Amino acid sequence: MSITATPYIDEFAGTILSPGDAGYDAARAVFNGAIDRRPALIAQVADARDVAAALRHAQHKGLLVAVRCGGHSGAGFGVIEDGLVIDVRRLKRVEVDLARRVVRAGAGLTWGELDAATQAHGLAVTGGRMSTTGIAGLTLGSGSGWLERKLGLTADNLLGATVVTADGDIVRADASQHPDLFWALRGGGGNFGVVTEFELALHPVGPMITGGMLLFEWERAREVLAAYRDVMAQAPDELGGCAALQLGPPAPFVPAALVGRPVLAIIVAAFAEEPAAQRLIAPLRALRPLVDAVAPMPYVALQQITDEGCPHGVQNHWKAAFLDDLPDAAIADAIQVAADIPSPLTVVLLQPLGGAYGRVEEGATALSHRSARWAYHALSLWPDPSDSAVNRAWTTRFAETMAAYGDGGVHPNHVSDPAGERVRAFYGAATYERLVAVKDRWDPRNVFAANQNIRPSAS
Ligand SMILES: Cc1cc2nc3c(=O)[nH]c(=O)nc-3n(C[C@H](O)[C@H](O)[C@H](O)COP(=O)(O)OP(=O)(O)OC[C@H]3O[C@@H](n4cnc5c(N)ncnc54)[C@H](O)[C@@H]3O)c2cc1C
Repeated sequence: MSITATPYIDEFAGTILSPGDAGYDAARAVFNGAIDRRPALIAQVADARDVAAALRHAQHKGLLVAVRCGGHSGAGFGVIEDGLVIDVRRLKRVEVDLARRVVRAGAGLTWGELDAATQAHGLAVTGGRMSTTGIAGLTLGSGSGWLERKLGLTADNLLGATVVTADGDIVRADASQHPDLFWALRGGGGNFGVVTEFELALHPVGPMITGGMLLFEWERAREVLAAYRDVMAQAPDELGGCAALQLGPPAPFVPAALVGRPVLAIIVAAFAEEPAAQRLIAPLRALRPLVDAVAPMPYVALQQITDEGCPHGVQNHWKAAFLDDLPDAAIADAIQVAADIPSPLTVVLLQPLGGAYGRVEEGATALSHRSARWAYHALSLWPDPSDSAVNRAWTTRFAETMAAYGDGGVHPNHVSDPAGERVRAFYGAATYERLVAVKDRWDPRNVFAANQNIRPSAS
């Protein structure tokens, strides 16, 4: 179908899909299987001018707008009932500038695609922990990954972006051009415009690193988690990873007796050459894991390590928050609730921060909470919609239990409910007020509302 009939579009280079078109159902599907929305139009854009045309068309027809990259938003912000979806997935141009150690990356790439292009040169930027997540949503809303203690968040590595504004203007945002917009893009999500290209700093990584999983008996979870906390408090930036409370996965290295029973795993990501990597890992191996599945592997393999355990299209409900620290009481509480995890796909991640993440000055980006030492992510996934009540209730119970150990701050990418008024608390009052001022300038009519929304003053 064409939308060239409107006075706003001379030439739309991409494809427009509407209900009934071949490919429409595949194009509207997102990662969270609980989301089933039927947009009026899906504009699969070929370039920034297409984005501008689609925005003008939406305005002309009075359609609400959603912007979609990898479709991994837990709330399904990339698809909208009866509205117009701007789908950027065809924007896959990728250009590595070896001299400047910078990648110019089309906003439609996934992390698997971007990592492959940069690792061909032994370079990387912090990316998501699943290879099918889109670079656009992840970068704009934080970008937490295995490399964050070494390199900071993806957003911390953003050098510039091409943005189509609510009025359809195509602008460059970086440290010298529109610095207010550039600041807000680093954490403010899709609130300020449609990004068509990112410019990201690259760093030498791998291509071989040392990583994998150490598995511990549940009975030792308290003791091992406390020791892990103490190891990570002293660890150099090159040691990343996290602890995971979950049911034993049906992987070849997991003893049959542990499959389906609560276990503690430590995911190891050591960014150093051998034998330095072995020295980094030694304090973790000294915790006497039942199973040691840590070995040299390509960085791109580490980047896919969670792919199999997170199937596309199942039900999702996530909660997360920063924790001031991880005191013994928090460990005991987390273990007590995690013992009742209802789904074999659900994982609680306890994530050590610090390192390069913690050295970014508060206020330098829209991503606050730099002094938090830990974060938890309760990632509930389950296949059968009829199990939703029990899984959602468990996730809420976990979040309520952990609320005692932080101020509720979180980077909004990690929460799967539309947060409404709670978005202010996620950012903290000062950062939120600054984001509202940027929203007032760049999107005062709140065209970009399908996100953890920063409301303009006029709304
Ligand atoms: C299995 C899984 C694993 C995850 N792992 C991590 C992880 O390791 N680290 C982490 O930080 N997060 C992680 N996340 C959360 C993820 O970062 C967010 O859900 C992110 O927003 C997804 O980006 P996307 O492009 O795939 O999603 P989409 O649903 O396509 O988009 C998400 C948001 O970004 C906006 N957006 C998309 N493209 C653009 C664009 N071009 N311009 C402007 N706005 C745009 C959308 O409007 C929407 O509000 C994970 C999520 C899942 C489901």
